[in-house]
Amino acid sequence: MSPNAPPRCDICVVGGGIVGVAAARELKRRHAGAEIVVLEREGEPAVHQSGHSSGVIHAGIYYAPGSLKARLCVEGARRLYEYCAGRGIDARRDGKVIVATRESELPQLDELERRGLANGVPGLRRIDPSELREVEPYANGIAALHSPATGVVDYRAVTQALAADFEAAGGRIVTGCEIRSMAPAGASVTLAHSGGRTEAAKVVLCAGPWADRLAVAAGADPDPRVVPFRGAYLRLRPERAGLVRANIYPVPDPDLPFLGMHLTRDPHGTVLLGPTALFVGARDAYRLRRVVPRDLAESLLWPGTRKMMRRHWRTGVTELRHAVSIDSFVAECRRYVPELRREDVERSSHSGVRAQAIARDGSLIDDFVVSETEHAVHVRNAPSPAATSSLALAELIADRLDAVS
Ligand SMILES: Cc1cc2nc3c(=O)[nH]c(=O)nc-3n(C[C@H](O)[C@H](O)[C@H](O)COP(=O)(O)OP(=O)(O)OC[C@H]3O[C@@H](n4cnc5c(N)ncnc54)[C@H](O)[C@@H]3O)c2cc1C
Repeated sequence: MSPNAPPRCDICVVGGGIVGVAAARELKRRHAGAEIVVLEREGEPAVHQSGHSSGVIHAGIYYAPGSLKARLCVEGARRLYEYCAGRGIDARRDGKVIVATRESELPQLDELERRGLANGVPGLRRIDPSELREVEPYANGIAALHSPATGVVDYRAVTQALAADFEAAGGRIVTGCEIRSMAPAGASVTLAHSGGRTEAAKVVLCAGPWADRLAVAAGADPDPRVVPFRGAYLRLRPERAGLVRANIYPVPDPDLPFLGMHLTRDPHGTVLLGPTALFVGARDAYRLRRVVPRDLAESLLWPGTRKMMRRHWRTGVTELRHAVSIDSFVAECRRYVPELRREDVERSSHSGVRAQAIARDGSLIDDFVVSETEHAVHVRNAPSPAATSSLALAELIADRLDAVS
């Protein structure tokens, strides 16, 4: 890591989350002789979403066939397992079940099965309640999907390994460097930042929760905007961690891009419950009460946010209840793990803030959004499963950057 940004470089990548670092590494592989620099505001990579996720390697079940998420998740998961094996990172293919507990969820379970098969998810199959109990002895439902290719990994460790590859190949990561504005200047782009100015021939912006601000500053369409949704977790007490072997998920609400509160055994053996999905007042609301006036104002002034709130207010009320009441949180998870009790869980300091793009018409944008301005490629919506997809997404970003003038 380096403290100073250079006055000029060939390619500048803004944002040292998993997507930015993977893109920088891919670009350095393609353009070995080019000077490529990652500029990251925080003191190290993976401080925001990439270091605060559920750690799940998604297999590609949920996503509309033909979407970027469908293609890049399946390919990204395959490449991530390969990468972790090569770098000695523990990526465990422990599998997962998606459990339907009500008749009304069966059509959506059918749809997930159809999508997963169309997307080429390895080994995905429908299982009945007795097979479900063989896979997850404490899960209960009327039908389920089993995905043996789903796994878990520490994405912070993956980001660090990708960063080490990039630096070993001659790339530079500058930390403590906040980009304040960017403007095309002839054949290049000038980035103004906390360390001065850097002129780059091309720029990739992977600023996660802050991605829309830099895109709009560069002249891109203000639609969509990023709105933060906080995800809080509980954890099972170690003596009750046996309630979950690997990953137990509910059938998600088809109108929302979130996967629902699940129970996940992380690579260290801790079982997390969550995350919630609560609209919050800061793009880094790791504490529930944190409010950044600019973040809140931008969210509320965006017409799409108000339309989204009108459409999904019932879900908002439920999420608020889960956020403030452990009883309500546990009751939701008890639907698919009936033996779960309030006294089995404890608060977890783990929380994350999802950067979710909302369109002007109030729709929560489901797919990844990558767009271009002069000399620049912007990643404007990279929520889950972007960590899983990062190595494949990096290739798409590099292809797009190679194509921009
Ligand atoms: C609660 C939660 C659970 C999740 N679970 C999963 C999961 O199980 N599996 C999965 O695949 N995905 C999951 N995700 C999604 C995944 O974490 C993200 O899709 C992924 O980390 C996005 O990476 P990123 O690099 O785009 O963003 P980030 O990791 O947020 O990185 C953006 C970076 O840009 C930097 N930055 C921003 N503005 C500036 C600026 N002006 N100047 C310089 N630097 C700047 C930030 O400091 C930050 O380091 C989850 C996300 C959350 C929040």
